[in-house]
Parts: sequence; C-alpha cells; structure tokens
Amino acid sequence: MSEADYKKRMQRKKKHIDSRIEKANIDKGIIVLLTGNGKGKSSSAMGMICRALGYEMKVALVRFLKGEQQTGEDLFLDSNPNVVSAHMESGFTWNTQDQVLDKKLANETWLEAEKFLADPEINLVVLDEITYMINYKYLDETSILKALSNRPVGQHVVITGRAASEGIIEVSDTVSEVKDVKHAFRANIRAQKGVDL
Ligand code: ATP
Ligand code: MG
Repeated sequence: MSEADYKKRMQRKKKHIDSRIEKANIDKGIIVLLTGNGKGKSSSAMGMICRALGYEMKVALVRFLKGEQQTGEDLFLDSNPNVVSAHMESGFTWNTQDQVLDKKLANETWLEAEKFLADPEINLVVLDEITYMINYKYLDETSILKALSNRPVGQHVVITGRAASEGIIEVSDTVSEVKDVKHAFRANIRAQKGVDL
C-alpha cells in the first residue's frame, strides 16, 4: 500500500471512530458481567476496583462462595477506607455438604449486597461469584434483578461467575465470556499466590 493510500485509509478510520466517540455521550452506571469457564473473571473485577479507588470512588466488594480461602486482594483491600465488604464465609456445597447452611449464608450475604445496591454513596459494587447462587437456587433471581434495576443511577456493578443466567445477561450492559483455552492446574501446578489467590 502506498503512503498516500495508507494516509487516506487512516483518515477514513479516524473519521469513523471520532463519530462513534461523539455519539457515545451518555454517562450512567453500567453493569459489567464477566462469565465463562476461563481464568480471569474475579481478578478482572479486582482490576476495576483498583481503577475506581484511583479516583477516590467508594467500592463495595461482596464475595459469594468465598470459603476460607483468602486472596491477596482481600489482604490488600481490607485496610482501604474506601472499601466496604461482605463475604459469604462458606465454601462450595461439595466441601461443606450443608445446603441449608449455605443457603442461609448466601441470603445473609445478599442482604448486605442489597444495602450496597441501594446506597448512592457507593460508586462500584462487585458481586463476585453470584451467578452460582442463582443457579443453585440459593438466591432468588427476581430479587437480584429488581435490586440491580433500582440501584442509584450512577452506580456501577460488576458481576462474576460461570454460567450466568439469561436474566443476568439481559440486565447487564457489558458482557464478556472468558474462554478456557489452557489452565496451569491441569499440568498439576497448584494455585499460586499473586496469580490464582
Ligand atoms: P481469577 O480469580 O483467577 O480471576 P476466575 O474468577 O476467572 O479466576 P473462578 O472460577 O472464580 O475463576 O476460579 C477461581 C480459581 O480457580 C482461581 O484460582 C483460578 O486460577 C482457578 N481457575 C479458574 N478457571 C479455571 C480453569 N478453567 N481450570 C482450573 N482452574 C481454574
Ligand atoms: Mg472468580
């Protein structure tokens, strides 16, 4: 391609992108859904928390299915005055083997999440692994969708977890599916600090 042709092509591209940027003039709280079987959903949500904290925004971190497993971000974020959190202190059903207790803990954690989703002071709410709570029927999807729809206008939400339901996909503005191509665990490498936890 000649230099003149390249320049013409880039000018056309710039015009197109500029007009798209000009059109996107709405500010509002958005829901980002990170789903799929690959690694990177919760850690991406933690990245967004970092972004928000950089602007002195207030963040609520709600983790379902956390169990006893502490992660590096918990250690890092716990001392941040702009972060409030609620953690469901229970593992997976096959670990605890107590469905009644898990359901009770899920609902207690959801009550905390509901408060955050009604609080206009909170700019970003992360609902980590909440998709499982809906799929296991530990939480009522309708109540979740209602709380998401009625939240303060400028509040952002990040939802993570595999196999997101149709209702959650529908209510979300940005949906990414992380694909599992390869994972170190299948080569017998255990979860590594700073990478997996
Ligand atoms: P991360 O927290 O690392 O972003 P994730 O939120 O996408 O991961 P989860 O399903 O919540 O994935 O699982 C969390 C843990 O399981 C992490 O230690 C992660 O490395 C590991 N993991 C994620 N996906 C896979 C996979 N496809 N195979 C094996 N282990 C996985
Ligand atoms: Mg996760």
